[in-house]
Amino acid sequence: MNQIDINKIEQINEISEASEYLFSLICPNSRLQKALAFAIEAHEGQFRKSGEAYAVHPILVAAIVASLTEDEAMVVAALLHDVVEDTDVTVSDISDAYGIDVAHLVEGLTKIDTIRDAQLIPSYSDERLVVSALSFRKMLIASIEDVRILVVKLCDRMHNMLTLQALSPQKQRRIAEETLVVYAPIAHRLGISFLKNRLEDLSFNFLFVKEKKAIKHYLEENYSAMQSRLNAFQQRITKLLLQNGFRMDDFEIISRIKHNYSIYLKMQRKGIGIDEILDLLAVRVLVKEPVDCYKVLGLIHLNFQPLSSRFKDYIAIAKDNGYQTLHTTVFNDTAIIEVQIRTYEMHHMAEFGVAAHWKYKNGTSGNINLDWLQNLQYQNESVEDFYELIKNDLYSEDISVFSPKGKVFTLPRGAVALDYAYAVHTEIGDYAEYSFVNKERVSLLSELHNGDIVRIDTAAKPILRCSWLDAVKTSRAKNNIRANCKHRIKSVNAQSATLILSAILDLEPEFVDEWLRMHGFYENRSKAAKDLDPGDAPEPSVWKLFCRTPFQTEAISVRLP
Ligand code: MN
Repeated sequence: MNQIDINKIEQINEISEASEYLFSLICPNSRLQKALAFAIEAHEGQFRKSGEAYAVHPILVAAIVASLTEDEAMVVAALLHDVVEDTDVTVSDISDAYGIDVAHLVEGLTKIDTIRDAQLIPSYSDERLVVSALSFRKMLIASIEDVRILVVKLCDRMHNMLTLQALSPQKQRRIAEETLVVYAPIAHRLGISFLKNRLEDLSFNFLFVKEKKAIKHYLEENYSAMQSRLNAFQQRITKLLLQNGFRMDDFEIISRIKHNYSIYLKMQRKGIGIDEILDLLAVRVLVKEPVDCYKVLGLIHLNFQPLSSRFKDYIAIAKDNGYQTLHTTVFNDTAIIEVQIRTYEMHHMAEFGVAAHWKYKNGTSGNINLDWLQNLQYQNESVEDFYELIKNDLYSEDISVFSPKGKVFTLPRGAVALDYAYAVHTEIGDYAEYSFVNKERVSLLSELHNGDIVRIDTAAKPILRCSWLDAVKTSRAKNNIRANCKHRIKSVNAQSATLILSAILDLEPEFVDEWLRMHGFYENRSKAAKDLDPGDAPEPSVWKLFCRTPFQTEAISVRLP
């Protein structure tokens, strides 16, 4: 795949230059040529705020897409992504000219704008954007079924972020905030760190001007010192590998300094200064085979003192989004350096995520693992709840725990045994009675740690734990507990309705209950309530009964035996 030069993209502002750049990344066949000409013509006479011809934008979005994937439909869709919205061209025109697949992508992209208009608070409002941005993201994830649409949208946003300078400071902030809250997390879930890191850094520049200045200042001040530490380390590792059977072309070492936004997040999360961040300096060792990763790791650990708590094997235990790499942090003299070791293939996967799988002209999204969608499924919470939930799921570091048979489950840090139970299956969560962590019986609320083996024993009946709502960590557990407890509250209400009814009619409650059962008032109960406890009083139909006029109640009482 062709590596894209983001700095170059930022400089381009003419159609001819943009087109040339696009075709340096993807071979210009007739369909692409046609779409390019079409986009240029459709946007003829339109200009962006910066003054450049509008068509420059879709062409460069197409270039970013082409750098991620060889899926031609996505590149064509990127070229055409704004025509339905901004010109007289319709989706069926696109379908006729470029096929249903492209039309479907363009339609999805246009739909995103509609959802955005409906969900995001208008720009004249003083209200903070973040809350509405979260509901926008929720809607987006729920309604876009083809992941390729989201990927093209991310590239669109990437180019918008690169050209944000031309807008007013207020608009800059709003778009940057939207990017940080809506799009960067989606890029993360899709495993496209290439887009995620840049979207984050670009947003960060506009949102946290002061902090950005401080970080930039520090990095500039210390640049040469940091660089020479990295170089020294890189040289030592190169020598070490060459002495131990690796040849020069078997590996590659890339050194880097952590990206701005993740420096900022680390400082925030740990309440520390920039000079206290342990993994500010990092090197990445790329090798050919997975087993070589472990050889390199062995050599590094035997020659440099590792910080034992910071070793992570994401090769054997991949992250949810498919990420695989060995992470370790070691001392080199007084410097502390993070080392990431992965194969070239893992590197490609880490940069391009889901997009790495797509093949040329592949019309469908194929077997892309959409599990990540599950993790972002939120329903019916208030936005404040939603914000809390999403914060837990997206921004905390994850732990991996195991079922007794060795199946891996990724949970947010701080998750408890009951979270695990719900992660395995909703029913396991509902019926959970005892939990065993590493064969020892513990409370269902005990916190899990990386590598724990967890077993859940279930009861014969579901067990309601309404007061535990705040003790669980995952949105899945919270949602289920909340839903079950709603039923409990309703059924308690229904029970008291039966009692009141029996008092009014001067009958035994069991008798009223039996009568209701015989007359079909139980049948309308929701399935969930029935599963919950078959002996519970009916709801909500009993309310209907109870709310009838006295006359009707009398009529019923006459019919009672
Ligand atoms: Mn656009």
